[in-house]
Amino acid sequence: MERLDVDLVLVGIGMEPDTHLACAAGLDTDNGIVVDEFARTSDPDILAIGDCANRPSAYAGGRIRLESAPNAIEYAKVAAATILGRPASTAIRWFWS
Ligand SMILES: Cc1cc2nc3c(=O)[nH]c(=O)nc-3n(C[C@H](O)[C@H](O)[C@H](O)COP(=O)(O)OP(=O)(O)OC[C@H]3O[C@@H](n4cnc5c(N)ncnc54)[C@H](O)[C@@H]3O)c2cc1C
Repeated sequence: MERLDVDLVLVGIGMEPDTHLACAAGLDTDNGIVVDEFARTSDPDILAIGDCANRPSAYAGGRIRLESAPNAIEYAKVAAATILGRPASTAIRWFWS
């Protein structure tokens, strides 16, 4: 083990989603806003995408709240398709960093 003398240690350990607004709206939450594969929340008139959304993922083998730009972009397309009445799911298997 190596010991380092430093003035400050900054540790990035992820973040917790702020679900207060979703809870106040009566939406189901569980580590984010629970959505289906078409970005619909427990209120089908309300959609959620991006970092705040906990969505099904066949790749992850369950649900996942993915903090990544491609996830936000791809699920925006899913939400747009849902709004247009042409629900289409997506399989997001990658992200860049
Ligand atoms: C330091 C850092 C590095 C990252 N690097 C990468 C990377 O290399 N690759 C990658 O894929 N992803 C990366 N990410 C993650 C990526 O930025 C996010 O996953 C992505 O931006 C999520 O998009 P979003 O639209 O869900 O949320 P955001 O981009 O966070 O957008 C949410 C917006 O909502 C606004 N907002 C919040 N509350 C309210 C409110 N009550 N009323 C009105 N507006 C509100 C916020 O101001 C913000 O503009 C990084 C994130 C951080 C912080």
